[in-house]
Amino acid sequence: MAIKDLANGRGTASDAGGGGGGGGDVKAHFVFIPMMFQGHLIPAVDTALLLATHGALASIVVTPSNTGRVRPAVDFARKSGLPVRLVELPLELAAEGLPHGADDVDRVPPDLWANYFRALARLRAPLERHLRAHAPYPTCVVADFCHPWARELAASLRVPRLCFFSMCAFCLLCQHNVERFDAYGGVAGDDELVVVPGLERKVEVSRAQAPGFFRGMPEFEKFADEVEQVLAEADGIVTNSFLEMEPEYVAGYAEARRMKVWTVGPVSLFHQRATTLASRGNTAAIDADECLRWLDGKEPSSVVYVSFGSIAHAEEKQVVELGLGLEASGHPFIWVVKNADQHGEDVAEFLRELEARVAGRGLLIRGWAPQVLILSHAAVGGFVTHSGWNSTVEAVTAGLPVVTWPHFADQFLNAKFAVEVLGVGVDVGVMEPVMYRLDQKEIVVGREVVEKAVRSIMDGGDEGEERRRRARALAAKARAAVEEGGSSHGNLLDLVKNFEFKVGAGCDAIA
Ligand code: UDP
Repeated sequence: MAIKDLANGRGTASDAGGGGGGGGDVKAHFVFIPMMFQGHLIPAVDTALLLATHGALASIVVTPSNTGRVRPAVDFARKSGLPVRLVELPLELAAEGLPHGADDVDRVPPDLWANYFRALARLRAPLERHLRAHAPYPTCVVADFCHPWARELAASLRVPRLCFFSMCAFCLLCQHNVERFDAYGGVAGDDELVVVPGLERKVEVSRAQAPGFFRGMPEFEKFADEVEQVLAEADGIVTNSFLEMEPEYVAGYAEARRMKVWTVGPVSLFHQRATTLASRGNTAAIDADECLRWLDGKEPSSVVYVSFGSIAHAEEKQVVELGLGLEASGHPFIWVVKNADQHGEDVAEFLRELEARVAGRGLLIRGWAPQVLILSHAAVGGFVTHSGWNSTVEAVTAGLPVVTWPHFADQFLNAKFAVEVLGVGVDVGVMEPVMYRLDQKEIVVGREVVEKAVRSIMDGGDEGEERRRRARALAAKARAAVEEGGSSHGNLLDLVKNFEFKVGAGCDAIA
């Protein structure tokens, strides 16, 4: 199997600031194994780069079709002198019955997801060989929770293993509690709401909204058990959140899991310093300068940004309802229309006509948007989001109120967190999940609901002002968390210290 150590084109570990087997001028060596979905990959890369700013070598494992998605940020970091390596490992697609190109998660057919996860597990042996062959020896593996095979890797290397999540501790604790206290036991149906046990606050959720990681799909039942077991045995958790936003849930989750939780977010703030705001994930479908020029022409806090992340995409009739709702709201908007090319001619024509009607007021981005660049512009005043965690924490970082429109996975719990706990959101009222490319529900949210929700975060009267005030206060806390003396800054330093090179370091390296 061909493996490329991409960042080390000229050779040795010291090219990446690595030094010899003892670590040279780097203090630790973290091996990041992200899941290749962009909502997992982007924050894992940001976290790796943040650790590198504190003197640790970060090796980031990618599969070939994802290299281009992380390359700009990594190249920028390397040019700034940060010790970062990109390790590209091809997936053995044919061996798991996957078609050519299925290395790109966007191109994995839904019925072959289990095969995709098996193909990922095959990375273990070649990755181990690579790590043994390239000094310095790792001091810690940081693997996405979707990679249970990382347990064997870390055990064989005799190094500690941390589980990486881009989720809030609130979501992790709710999910853990409904499972460990069997809250769904005896419910009449998947849509029945239960109170999440073990929290001071009353939070209600249904099995349909929060089934648990990989639960509810018969072909993944065994895998789900393995994911839980491997998580329970981790040496700690690293997550894209920050302590001041949710201290009781961070403490609660650490206690429930009996392990340390390092909150290191908001990790997107790495890019405030690195001016790579516009190059996270896919190549943007709009030029960053064009986007900024458009925003520069708008009043402060007047524009609503609408995006549903990297996976969810709307059915045709839903696209039309959403577009009409945005038009009726009267507010300037940027709308990221994913998979626009997959819709029929009717929708394409609807979008063209809408664009003409709202010319100057509405900007449609067909494809990938430079999201954090947009969110951090002063003209943006609100975010209609699918409540993916990264989008939620990016909204918090920008001090923006949100309309929450969850689709699946952790999004329902994130939406509850934004609306009920943080008090910065208005929910559109979706109760059931729409699974990616599996369900074909046409209209989930009507145009009037969209219009009303947008108006309430953008105009909103006293309540709206209060939401905006809370959002801004949170943004100030987010920034303080990553600055020197802040909790996330401290946790990054603590990670480097805990996993630094030690003579004879092994699995007992955690202080
Ligand atoms: N993102 C982006 N441009 C897009 C769509 C998404 O930059 O057009 C980024 C977004 O900033 C976030 C990530 O992709 O960092 C999406 O993660 P999230 O957890 O919000 O949602 P997911 O894609 O996992 O559903």
